[in-house]
Amino acid sequence: MSTEYEPVIGLEIHVQLKTRTKMFCGCELSFGEEPNTRTCPVCLGLPGTLPVTNAQAVQYGIMMGLALGCEIAPRSIFHRKNYFYPDLSKGYQISQYDIPLCLGGQLGDVKIHRIHLEEDAAKLVHAGSSGRIHGSESSVVDYNRGGTPLAEIVTEPDIHSAEQARDWLQLLRETLRQLGVSDVNMEEGSLRCDANVSIRPKGSKGLGTKTELKNMNSFRFVAQGINAEIARQTALLESGEQVTQETLHYDPVSGRISSLRSKEEAHDYRYFPEPDLVPLVPTPEMIAAAEAAIPELPADREARYESDFGLPRDTAHLFAYEPTWGTYFERVAVEGDRDAKAAGIWVTELRTRLGADADPHQSPVVPAQLAALAGLVGAKKVTAGSARTVLDKMVETGDHPSDIAEAEGLTVMEDSGELSQIVAKVISENQDVVERIRGGNAKAMGALVGPIMRETKGRADGGEVNRLLREQLGV
Ligand code: ADP
Ligand code: ZN
Ligand code: MG
Repeated sequence: MSTEYEPVIGLEIHVQLKTRTKMFCGCELSFGEEPNTRTCPVCLGLPGTLPVTNAQAVQYGIMMGLALGCEIAPRSIFHRKNYFYPDLSKGYQISQYDIPLCLGGQLGDVKIHRIHLEEDAAKLVHAGSSGRIHGSESSVVDYNRGGTPLAEIVTEPDIHSAEQARDWLQLLRETLRQLGVSDVNMEEGSLRCDANVSIRPKGSKGLGTKTELKNMNSFRFVAQGINAEIARQTALLESGEQVTQETLHYDPVSGRISSLRSKEEAHDYRYFPEPDLVPLVPTPEMIAAAEAAIPELPADREARYESDFGLPRDTAHLFAYEPTWGTYFERVAVEGDRDAKAAGIWVTELRTRLGADADPHQSPVVPAQLAALAGLVGAKKVTAGSARTVLDKMVETGDHPSDIAEAEGLTVMEDSGELSQIVAKVISENQDVVERIRGGNAKAMGALVGPIMRETKGRADGGEVNRLLREQLGV
């Protein structure tokens, strides 16, 4: 019998902070400017310069820590992480090492190990054939990105499937976006995710040897990459081989995983305390200001929409991840005598028409009128089908749903005399169906409902149609 394995996953996420200037100098952040136009002696690492910590980046770091339930270190320090690479002009990266800004914490079902602040490296641009030196391709460096503030979030190894990793990363991304601390764009690299993956026999508590998948730049690739790595490790163990600790690259095009390098160790970097920076000591005022800047977060909003408004989980999730729609939904729900479920349905319908990115508050459909539409359906004055047509018109004109329903002849037929005649007509035209019903096939009645609805242009109430059919057929 073969062993069943359980995946164990921990994520390391780098978030570019949306500050005005860089982490340790006054250069403005770069968004696609000409290469090497956003640099100064500090971020170029020229001799005789001194770094100064960006207060906005510290505030964002504290906000992230508080939002994720971390403890804010009363005193944290920066270290130099030494290595040589052309994207690092100083020969070291300023980062936090043994005392990070934030410790512990939890988001959703995943515990946070730590969050620390550091600076980004520059960007290597591969110059192609025009830049050949001795027959090999050369690269040039754009230092605009060098020194951009980063927060690194490290989770505990609490994740047990690729899909859980992807969903959790989406929750984290949305949380950071709503905090306003980052653009969190994976394609553009302002949110970057490395996944540490190992497997262990199901039921065992120990941890297997892990590998680290570097820099997957979309949610889909994160899930695909982790699944590919779980499959690779499982195949290794099943054939009696072992997993080697290493750093890997997942290629989404081929689906293949390749080795980048053997795993480096912390001591390889010769970390030592940055002598040019004072320790980071957040004051009570800084913490209070960060706390005050935190809006309601998506996980809390989702829970509130489920518990206070009774929304189904999917709808609650949608409105929590699109808070503009969530706020609009709340207005409709309040207008609509607290029939929040109906409000949820009609706000979702409106969202389909306007597009998720639209701001419903700017649309011609004001909350009170959308609530009125839900009310018309609830009171059976308009069928759900007709209400969709009414909503189309509301989006165009901003008119009141009652007026539209009236003008377009979309109100439910009040006059059961008229409906009764239509029912009689459809019965007489479908004698074959009637035979089947009389012969005991009650389900065949459904075949008469369609033509009746067509004749009434969807204005008939379904319950009333059924009642009249039974009455006239005597079944
Ligand atoms: P390293 O020292 O190799 O960088 P860390 O202990 O700092 O490892 O952990 C880095 C990340 O890897 C964290 O997100 C952590 O949760 C995760 N991790 C650690 N051990 C394992 C493991 N055996 N399997 C999966 N993930 C792990
Ligand atoms: Zn600079
Ligand atoms: Mg580590």
